Amino acid sequence: MSVDTVIETLRGQLGDKVVVTDADAIAPWLTDWRGRWTGASKALLQPSTTQEVATIVKACNEAGVPLVAQGGNSSMVGGATPNPDGGSLLLSMRSMNNVRMLDAEAGTVVAEAGVILANLHDTALKRGLRFPLTLGAKGSATVGGLVSTNAGGTQVLRFGTMRGLTLGLEAVLPDGTIHDGLGGLKKDNRGPSLDQLLIGAEGTLGVVTAALLKLAPAPVARSTAFAGVKSPAAALRLLRRMTDLVEGFELLPHDSLEAAQRHMDVSSPLASKHDWYVLVEATQAKGQEDARALLERLLAYAMEDGLVEDAAIASNEAQSEAMWRIRDGLSDSEKQVYGLATQHDISVPVDAIPEFLKRVKSEIEREWPGSWVSGYGHLGDGNIHLHVRAMDRACEGWQESEGKEIGRRVHDLVTEAGGSISAEHGIGQMKRDELARLGEPARLTMLRALKAALDPKRIMNPGKLIP
Ligand SMILES: Cc1cc2nc3c(=O)[nH]c(=O)nc-3n(C[C@H](O)[C@H](O)[C@H](O)COP(=O)(O)OP(=O)(O)OC[C@H]3O[C@@H](n4cnc5c(N)ncnc54)[C@H](O)[C@@H]3O)c2cc1C
Repeated sequence: MSVDTVIETLRGQLGDKVVVTDADAIAPWLTDWRGRWTGASKALLQPSTTQEVATIVKACNEAGVPLVAQGGNSSMVGGATPNPDGGSLLLSMRSMNNVRMLDAEAGTVVAEAGVILANLHDTALKRGLRFPLTLGAKGSATVGGLVSTNAGGTQVLRFGTMRGLTLGLEAVLPDGTIHDGLGGLKKDNRGPSLDQLLIGAEGTLGVVTAALLKLAPAPVARSTAFAGVKSPAAALRLLRRMTDLVEGFELLPHDSLEAAQRHMDVSSPLASKHDWYVLVEATQAKGQEDARALLERLLAYAMEDGLVEDAAIASNEAQSEAMWRIRDGLSDSEKQVYGLATQHDISVPVDAIPEFLKRVKSEIEREWPGSWVSGYGHLGDGNIHLHVRAMDRACEGWQESEGKEIGRRVHDLVTEAGGSISAEHGIGQMKRDELARLGEPARLTMLRALKAALDPKRIMNPGKLIP
């Protein structure tokens, strides 16, 4: 059956509201968030129930027509962009946007795949709770996209990634079967977990339609500090003292702060200049130690021991926000101030970070004279956003030519350090070849075998993740 026949069959079954073929309505969803990939699709399918998703997947499976599940289209790796051949259909999950249940006593919520993260935050807050995962794309990223990329963000240190926050999933498998894992069983030993296989599968093994998620009590207060440190090694020692007490611990070099100051017109929270900085956040739930007193105490000890050179603690919410604005604006500021860069979302074991940062900087800058390496990120998670700037090499297409070679070298160094070429953004189409080149044989065998078993016709998000 051709793509056109499937579209007409689905239009007959589900109507024009679900099956959209107007090119102007489809166009905004065909290019990825970073503007690096543009695909094609003859239809945008917008189901609003699990049964409608099942109908779509079943029809596509029978006809062998590929489907690309899409949430907010904020993937950083081209994960939700269909291939340019126009042979796939785009499956938008944004119309499945109900919060089906919120149990404030149990601290759980069932959110459909299309619920936007910022809306989930608001819904939880109204009941005195919070969903403790946040990231820069919270205004667009959806529950389905977050689950399917096992997203992280700035609170992973305390609450874990989506894998740690997901208690169960409802999903449609590639043959159209509905999996209902929303029961919330604490113990369930009927073999490997389908939910766990779908988390981080990037839409290649099925379509997530809803998730049972953990909530945490909303904090009554938070305290944020910005501290100058000598080196990543000093920051790591500070982190070790604070790990179980704080929920955010971000590392950034002076270059990054300077870019933010120049681009966003923000001031440094500190009067003095330091080689590196950490942004630390502690929160306080009802009945817990005062968050500000906690940070003051921890930072005072660290200064006595020479781990921290200087520190400022926000004295109100506006100052906390100003500190986070610096962190959240780094990527854009660096782009505007320093120009072209290749960006690498990588992780290495936390203890290896100081040595890794030194090595990657010296090797890349030596091998590509005139390039400039710097990184910032979630130190507590071993996750660095490493940027290699083109400097005087900046020209159209650099990222795709020499930038690609540099990227491969960075990935070699990450692999040698025992790390991952994707810490939190996923593989998508951007890193698929690199996963094939560097993935351990057991991982590649598992990925290929799962795909062959669950999706033998390879209809789910072809060209992404699976090498
Ligand atoms: C400014 C910015 C900051 C970011 N910061 C972070 C960060 O700090 N940490 C982090 O982890 N990520 C971050 N990201 C990446 C991004 O937000 C995540 O990848 C997010 O999970 C994508 O959600 P989405 O709904 O936009 O998914 P999409 O981009 O639409 O899709 C992402 C992937 O999930 C699949 N998918 C989407 N919905 C479903 C579904 N219902 N069922 C099956 N598969 C599905 C898609 O096929 C695709 O492979 C950032 C992105 C931006 C733009």
